[in-house]
Amino acid sequence: MNHPKKERTLLLIKPDGVRRGLTGEVLRRLEQRGLKIIALQMVKPSAEQMDNHYPKDEEWLKRIGEKTTATFEKYGRDVTETMGTSDLLKIGQEVRKWLVVYMASAPIVKVIVEGIHAVDMVRKLVGNTFPYQAEVGTIRGDFSIDSPIAANLDKRSIFNIAHASENPQEATHEIAHWFTPAELHEYDRSVE
Ligand code: GDP
Ligand code: MG
Repeated sequence: MNHPKKERTLLLIKPDGVRRGLTGEVLRRLEQRGLKIIALQMVKPSAEQMDNHYPKDEEWLKRIGEKTTATFEKYGRDVTETMGTSDLLKIGQEVRKWLVVYMASAPIVKVIVEGIHAVDMVRKLVGNTFPYQAEVGTIRGDFSIDSPIAANLDKRSIFNIAHASENPQEATHEIAHWFTPAELHEYDRSVE
């Protein structure tokens, strides 16, 4: 087992974050917190790369399907009218497609972050998936105004600036997916 300060996670600055010139701002917030950037690169991902980045299991897809359905219900809209189905799995698969198309539409910045509780810490800095629920002071809370119902009706992914691994398993998969071991760097920050 590695020391807790060696925990690693993956952050992606999404196309909307890059286009809005927020790359430096996002990296600044990670470094300001005391987290260490140990790998960094801008890439224009293929749809296949994005497809293999996001989970494919039924549980994840159904969770997305449930969230999407709940949004339609919350705003009194008919989910079947827009999605063509009320099947949670099929809705999850459709929203996942929107996500892959969006993420592969422009350059992204991929970052490996290391530090104590890196996974939870970076999730906290990034904030809630839905910009209107993301606390002020988080990346999504400070820089995004998109809404899930607007995104669903437009049949596109929610634009929320950054992606961050949700748990250590996702982090392990995503780090191995985006970087080779030789691209990771080891160094001490001055406080160390
Ligand atoms: P995250 O881990 O906070 O990024 O959220 P998820 O893993 O649940 O979803 C992945 C990404 O899919 C999100 O960051 C959004 O860009 C998009 N997304 C999630 N839920 C919805 C939704 O209900 N509707 C739409 N249109 N996009 C969604
Ligand atoms: Mg996620």
